[in-house]
Amino acid sequence: MNVPAELLAQRLRRASEEAARHDVDLLVVTPGTDLRYLLGIETSTHERLTCLVLAAAGHRAPPALVVPRLEAPGMADLPLDELGVELVTWTDSDDPYLLVSDLAGVPSRMAVVDSMAARHVFGLRDRLPGVGQTLAGPVLAELRMRKDSAEVAELRKAAAAIDRVHARMGELLRPGRTEAQVGADIADAIVAEGHTEAAFVIVGSGPNGASPHHDLSDRVIKPGDVVVVDIGGPLRTGYNSDCTRTYAVGAEPAGDVREIYQVLQAAQEAACQAVRPGATAESIDAAARHIITSAGFGEQFVHRTGHGIGLDVHEEPYIVGGNALELTEGMAFSVEPGIYLDGQWGARIEDIMVVTGDGGERLNGRPRDLVVL
Ligand code: ZN
Ligand code: ZN
Ligand code: ZN
Repeated sequence: MNVPAELLAQRLRRASEEAARHDVDLLVVTPGTDLRYLLGIETSTHERLTCLVLAAAGHRAPPALVVPRLEAPGMADLPLDELGVELVTWTDSDDPYLLVSDLAGVPSRMAVVDSMAARHVFGLRDRLPGVGQTLAGPVLAELRMRKDSAEVAELRKAAAAIDRVHARMGELLRPGRTEAQVGADIADAIVAEGHTEAAFVIVGSGPNGASPHHDLSDRVIKPGDVVVVDIGGPLRTGYNSDCTRTYAVGAEPAGDVREIYQVLQAAQEAACQAVRPGATAESIDAAARHIITSAGFGEQFVHRTGHGIGLDVHEEPYIVGGNALELTEGMAFSVEPGIYLDGQWGARIEDIMVVTGDGGERLNGRPRDLVVL
């Protein structure tokens, strides 16, 4: 999405208002998803300092984009004039942190983005001694976790794209193939279906499925294996997909697999049904956890129920015990409970949900039953 300048202007204004509400005088935003959100800049971070310097509402300093001179041509397409953002360039013989301190005046508390490299954090600290540093994550999360309709449309598009990849699992996930072979094909399919890259591909077969963040191995998939497939990536606009389905491959799984899977499916369904404005993040986690714990598998559900998603695959709001945040319209997050039986097998079901005016919309639509491929 080429984000319209008007929308960027609104985001900048709201960011400086939120900064003020959080008792922060100054936001310093280096390249990453926060900068992409605020200015539409896609450059990555490196040792030369690039940053947006944004004063909190009530301060007079205009926003500035500090950029190494050699990077300035890459900023030519940005609507900086329209946004009232001053472009401040520096050369390799300058001290860019001194530049920031000149622009900043005398703040008492600055917030730096969570992903800022330590070298920049310390560089700023040295040039702005006595200025308290805090994380900008909580400030910017206030904006980023509530998606506007264009952002929801991108997440919907991403979900449809990853659903199309899961729809092809019958041809890709076959007994006799290794996880790595299947994973390579899935990665190709992720790109073929409209993502710019496969950001992550988890194929956890048999005992490997019991490790939630297992990625790929040379294990050969056997008939009767239960396989966790958790995949996703960004669209060109930066918005991500993330969807897990668990499959049985080649033969009906043995023992009590199906019975335990039913528990997981009921838990995932209950959590999705609980999504509505006013519900707390932790209540969604509790809805899933209660069912799994009651069935005796609480100890085997080793992670939170979900995470926000947008320009980052993992962002606010986190669907986790202890998070009393009230859900509001536009929040987008995963609902992905899992049950992991050490050394045996595991299962997870993951959908992306968006909070609507009176409930929740599930963006992923593939069947959630344990399908035998
Ligand atoms: Zn994860
Ligand atoms: Zn996932
Ligand atoms: Zn996820």
